[in-house]
Amino acid sequence: MGEPQARGRFGEYGGRYAPESLVEACREVEETFREAWADPGFRGGLARLLAVHAGRPTPLTPAWRLSRELGVQLYLKREDLTHTGSHKINNVLGQALLATRMGRRRLIAETGAGQHGVATATAAALLGLEATVFMGERDMERQALNVFRMRMLGAEVVPVTTGSRTLKDATSEAMRHWVGATGDSHYCVGSVVGPDPYPWMVREFQRVIGDEARGQCAAELRTGVPDHVVACVGGGSNAAGTFAGFADTPARFVGVEAEGGAGAARGRLGVLHGCRSLFLQDDDGQITEAHSVAAGLDYPGVGPEHAHLRDLGRARYVTVTDDEAVGAAVRLARTEGIVPALESAHALAWVIRAAGSGELPAGSTVLMTLSGRGDKDISTLKELV
Ligand SMILES: *Cc1c(COP(=O)(O)O)cnc(C)c1O
Repeated sequence: MGEPQARGRFGEYGGRYAPESLVEACREVEETFREAWADPGFRGGLARLLAVHAGRPTPLTPAWRLSRELGVQLYLKREDLTHTGSHKINNVLGQALLATRMGRRRLIAETGAGQHGVATATAAALLGLEATVFMGERDMERQALNVFRMRMLGAEVVPVTTGSRTLKDATSEAMRHWVGATGDSHYCVGSVVGPDPYPWMVREFQRVIGDEARGQCAAELRTGVPDHVVACVGGGSNAAGTFAGFADTPARFVGVEAEGGAGAARGRLGVLHGCRSLFLQDDDGQITEAHSVAAGLDYPGVGPEHAHLRDLGRARYVTVTDDEAVGAAVRLARTEGIVPALESAHALAWVIRAAGSGELPAGSTVLMTLSGRGDKDISTLKELV
């Protein structure tokens, strides 16, 4: 999982499908990122921010009791323990530092449930930048607490009233807004999606998950490397960052999608938000809405690198239902004392199912990224448990 091929391609996916002014802005982001990523000063500065502000490194937790019940050895990479409660902070701190390096004073972001918006608002406050977050009007109603949290952090939250008034429309609006603001603003994309260099750059910023986990597995596991590496997939950033740390190992990669948001498992080739990838579409080729109990998995597509890993057979993509995810969340709470985000509970639901069916043979070792904590989902869980 290295750099994309020419023009930001992962196989037949990726690319930079954007208006001319954004193509120019993306080129500048790419150049600055290449330079920064090769600069020990930048990497050291980011590592320090991740340590003193975001709480890295995060632990690798053996799930003792659940492992015994399932008959496999399950280890959890604890992104839920980062500041703001999910892996999103890793990427956002990286892009915020990059914005500073480019002399930009404002971050633009889109958000669905508000997780990426809150992380962006947090990074902006930390580095003295402004933040403008686009959010669908319907999501703003559903996630009023996160709207307040962003405003508390000093961000401007802009309601998006077009289309279905959810994440897909907020992303389109944020890109449109960036066209007129490239001079003073950096567009901080929240997952491994969007035009080149975002899918590649965001994966590099999330690689810290996989790199840390690789070292922790080497110290902790008898075999050094787990048999399976599992993560949930919305756009695919926590999965891509985790997989990247094990790319040169024989570990098998499994990406777990929501039944109603299965871009990699069931999407068809299309172009959306500046990138060629797999998207859920109707018979006319219109991109359809995703539906999941986990807001972070509510994206109708998947990042181009995942589409490519699927084609190569390097990773496989499976789906679980809302009910399975809720059941897995309860089970983790009661066996390990951890209430996971409903997104992360999807990954666990697959582990539980696969251990039961023998697809994960008894005794196999499984590394699973626990992408976030469940606090944001408590009111949803209260209705369903
Ligand atoms: C946003 C989010 C996801 C999905 O995003 P990816 O880019 O696929 O990682 C998963 N888990 C949590 C907790 C999130 O907030």
